[in-house]
Amino acid sequence: MAGERRGAVLELLRRPGNMRCADCGAPDPDWASYTLGVFICLSCSGIHRNIPQVSKVKSVRLDAWEEAQVEFMASHGNDAARATFESKVPSFYYRPTFSDCQVLREQWVRAKYERREFVHLEKQEPYSAGYREGFLWKRGRDNGQFLSRKFVLTEREGALKYFNRSDAKEPKAIMKIEHLNATFQPAKIGHPHGLQVTYLKDNSTRNIFVYHEDGKEIVDWFNALRAARFHYLQVAFPGASDADLVPKLSRNYLKEGYMEKTGPKQTEGFRKRWFTMDDRRLMYFKDPLDAFARGEVFIGSKESGYKVLDGLPPSTQGYHWPHGITIVTPDRKFLFTCETESDQREWVAAFQKVVDRPMLPQEYAVEAHFKHKP
Ligand SMILES: [Zn+2]
Repeated sequence: MAGERRGAVLELLRRPGNMRCADCGAPDPDWASYTLGVFICLSCSGIHRNIPQVSKVKSVRLDAWEEAQVEFMASHGNDAARATFESKVPSFYYRPTFSDCQVLREQWVRAKYERREFVHLEKQEPYSAGYREGFLWKRGRDNGQFLSRKFVLTEREGALKYFNRSDAKEPKAIMKIEHLNATFQPAKIGHPHGLQVTYLKDNSTRNIFVYHEDGKEIVDWFNALRAARFHYLQVAFPGASDADLVPKLSRNYLKEGYMEKTGPKQTEGFRKRWFTMDDRRLMYFKDPLDAFARGEVFIGSKESGYKVLDGLPPSTQGYHWPHGITIVTPDRKFLFTCETESDQREWVAAFQKVVDRPMLPQEYAVEAHFKHKP
């Protein structure tokens, strides 16, 4: 009997909606929440275990199933759960996938089933009200210490601001929503809730690094920033659909890591730097947590004269790492070296992806800015 019941649950996994994890979209889930009626992956089952008051999990293959549990799974399933628990997810809200960090995935599960934020609209106020203020731990630019700072996000002013003292009248920085990006970087920042916020000042990238001890708070900040970007873009591009705008709300980097670089004359010795490929902007830093990039390179498309080559020109000297990359731009060549061959392959693939993509009209304007940079 037990074997038959397990067979019946396995059969349910073949229904189209159940072939991917209900929470992160990972293929072939083989765990289930038998109180919510969803099939989930092993990793998400660990998150469900933390909310036992709403979700109880068991393995489809390893655990025993009772008749009533099988019937419950059969009459619910991932499609039905989505129709209930995700009925009012705002378009700007970030839906994490299996490759996203733990805090994003955990808060998504808690928001859906524990807090039922996407059933009750009033619970979305922390990120949909157009205004948010609160304290975040912000990394000091010079000493690297995290200090509590007051942040204010106001869509009306189109800006995120922070203050060095809570009674200060003037903000320490005003970050325009137009150029703002936020991306979770737990490993780099050294905190599971670490968020990197970047903005442009005089067309140069500035970084700030923040976290909040409470996972809900930092994910609410992240979605509030996305909401602000969404509303900004809706005004800036009145004809655009939600599907056009949503991918522009925040960006993860195409690749980050150390490479060596040399200067424009290519006679200087190579130096190890931290590189970040953000869309078409290749930035390098002395330290991964620097507030400012040491330099930024615009990477255009092959149609406009950009190329990525394996290796270095034959006469190159002064490098320590053996795996070279040459980027050809209309103005000059940039030479890089990587420590391992797999690093080199990943960087070349990241650059190639950008070079292969035709440039958008507004990207020509960005390219022109780079050329006129002193
Ligand atoms: Zn999952």
